[in-house]
Formats: sequence, C-alpha cells, structure tokens
Amino acid sequence: MFRLNPKTGLTHEVSPEVESTQIPPLRDPQGRHLDYLRLSVTDRCNLRCRYCMPADGIKLAARENVLTLEEMQRLGAIFAQLGVRKIRITGGEPLLRKGVVSLIAGLQGLPSSPEILMTTNGLLLEANLHDLQAAGLRRINLSLDTLKPEKWRDITRRGGHDTVLKAMDLVLAKGMGLKINVVVLPGENVNEIPDFVALTKDRDVSIRFIEPMPFDGTGKPLAATVNGDDILGFIRPHYELKALTNPDGAVDKLYAVKGHRGNIGIIEGHSRTFCSSCRRLRLNASGEFRTCLYGRPQANLRLLMRGGATDTDLMAVIRDAVEKRLVDGFAAEKDSKLFGLKSMVDIGG
Ligand code: SAM
Ligand code: SF4
Repeated sequence: MFRLNPKTGLTHEVSPEVESTQIPPLRDPQGRHLDYLRLSVTDRCNLRCRYCMPADGIKLAARENVLTLEEMQRLGAIFAQLGVRKIRITGGEPLLRKGVVSLIAGLQGLPSSPEILMTTNGLLLEANLHDLQAAGLRRINLSLDTLKPEKWRDITRRGGHDTVLKAMDLVLAKGMGLKINVVVLPGENVNEIPDFVALTKDRDVSIRFIEPMPFDGTGKPLAATVNGDDILGFIRPHYELKALTNPDGAVDKLYAVKGHRGNIGIIEGHSRTFCSSCRRLRLNASGEFRTCLYGRPQANLRLLMRGGATDTDLMAVIRDAVEKRLVDGFAAEKDSKLFGLKSMVDIGG
C-alpha cells in the first residue's frame, strides 16, 4: 500500500501488516520511552564552527549515499508509527537541503501529526521563513554563540552575524517559538553570558547554554571545558534565577529570570546529567541510526531500505537497537571508542 501526502506529493509504501497492527512504543532496558527523533537532512554546512568541525570541513558523504527525501519521509512515517511524537530537522545546515520545506510538510501530514522542529544557524532563515511556517513549523532553535561580529567570524570562520541577529527577531515577529543555542566556550564567550540572559528581558525566548562536547572532528578530548554549575555561576551575580520544571521532560535545566519575559536553560551535554530521562534517537544524513549521541551507529537504515527491507523489517531493526540501548552516555562513549569521537555535523546535531 502506498501512502500519498497530497500537500507534498511525497509517497512511501506502508506494508499492510504495519497499517493494521497496534504497535507498542519504543522503550529501552531502563524503561525510557523514546519518542523524539533528530533527523539530519544533510552533512553540508555554510559555516565552519570550530567546536563542530575542522577548518576544511569533514569528508562529505557521496551524494548517492545521502538519504533521499522520499526515504526520509518513509523513515519518519515508520518512527511515527513506533510512537515518535517529535521530529527535529537538523544537519549540517538543514536549510541547505533542497526540498526540506516539502519534507516538513510531509512529516507534519503523517496520520499521528508529529511535531516538527528545526535547529538552524539562521543564515538562510529569512528567505525560507514564510514557507517553513506554511509547512507547519512552529518552533525553531537558532544557534548563536556570540553577540559580537568579530568573535562570530572567529568561531564560525565565516561571515553573516548580522543576518542571524535579524533572523532571531524575524522568528519572534512571526509568532514562532524560539530557543537560542549558545555553546559556552571557555575563554571565548563566557563573558557574554549575562548579555545573552539580557535578551530574555523583553523577548519571549529561551536561551540555552550548552556545555561544549568533544565532537569537533579532531578526535581529541576537549582542551578546556565548562560545566552547568560554572555557567550558573556566571549568571547568578547579575540575575535572580528560579528553577522551573521543564514541561517537555527535555534535557535542559530550565530557569526563570526574575522580571524577564523569556527564560534560560542549561544543557549539560558533556556532564551528561540528563541521561536517565533522555528520549532521543538520531538518524544522520546517510541513514546511520544512533540511540545515543555518544554511541556508535547501531544500524544503517539507508542500506537496509535500499536492500529491500520492508517497513516491518526496519521497525524490527530499530526496536532491536533500542532494546540494546546502554544506560547512559558514558557507557555509550566507552562502547564506541573504536569508532572515534566524530564531528557533530556528521552525527547530526
Ligand atoms: N547547523 C545547524 C545549527 O548550527 O544550528 C544545525 C546543526 S548543529 C550540529 C546543531 C547544534 O549542535 C547547534 O546548536 C550547535 O551549536 C551544536 N553543536 C555543534 N557542535 C557542538 C559541540 N561540539 N558541542 C556542543 N554543541 C555542539
Ligand atoms: Fe554548521 Fe551548525 Fe556545525 Fe556550525 S554548528 S558548523 S552551523 S552544523
């Protein structure tokens, strides 16, 4: 049976047994319910952020080894049937992928109507914002590590800072949900942390301060790091914070800032304090499927699909990987050591 999305024209085959069965949701051995997929639509990027990849970029996948939009739609449908309720479109830079707007509309149009989100560096946002909103995108995470143009050029090795600043206010003007991702880099932008908190004064925005993780493609551990408590230590002398319960059960520790419209979050991605409640799955642009950011790929769904796997076969592989999910990111890192610490752009951020 083929299912057609009339908005996009994208189709995928749904096996009759899948169509008719009540499928139990994905649960790992710790009982964590995995209902959030991060789907990387490209390994290409128009920036070269130092903490994400080397100056020359990474070795890109050959074009024929990148998932087609139809394959992504099919996999999105399979994950949705397995109980995934949120799909984050990421990359690389997702807005470099031709057809990404149709893909968002297609995923949004699945019978279970999963929420579709996007993480972007914002350089191409202005040109795409109207279409993205029309396709059903309601919330965007924008990456912005510095408010200083010179520092931006230093961190991203490219220009365009003013474009991203503008994109931030355009997203808000459209009434869309906005989170700003700030990777906190020792010796680089820690002195700007209070300035980022100031952005929440009159804007309904969540600023998420992220511990840097060792995914810069060099394969080396981080030279210097900063943890969640350090980050709070930079904020508390300037602002009164009150811990909030995170409505999404998400990985960031959320805080209200007294007198401010927006809030802040701390993501302890390197300390890995949130593993016990992590609900995330990851699929990179080549179809590598991971159950942990720090783990090795558990399967290549592109190869399986192109080898003739049915939806039922793919579901079995996904479920098997989930059932082998390790207890936390430390265990996953230990297990994946032979594969090396990769670049975030390749894993799919
Ligand atoms: N290009 C898009 C962007 O930058 O928003 C999406 C992909 S990017 C890999 C997704 C997120 O991962 C960004 O917020 C980025 O700052 C974050 N990221 C990349 N490398 C990281 C690292 N080594 N440690 C922590 N966060 C990282
Ligand atoms: Fe590109 Fe995003 Fe990585 Fe920066 S963080 S290099 S924008 S993928």
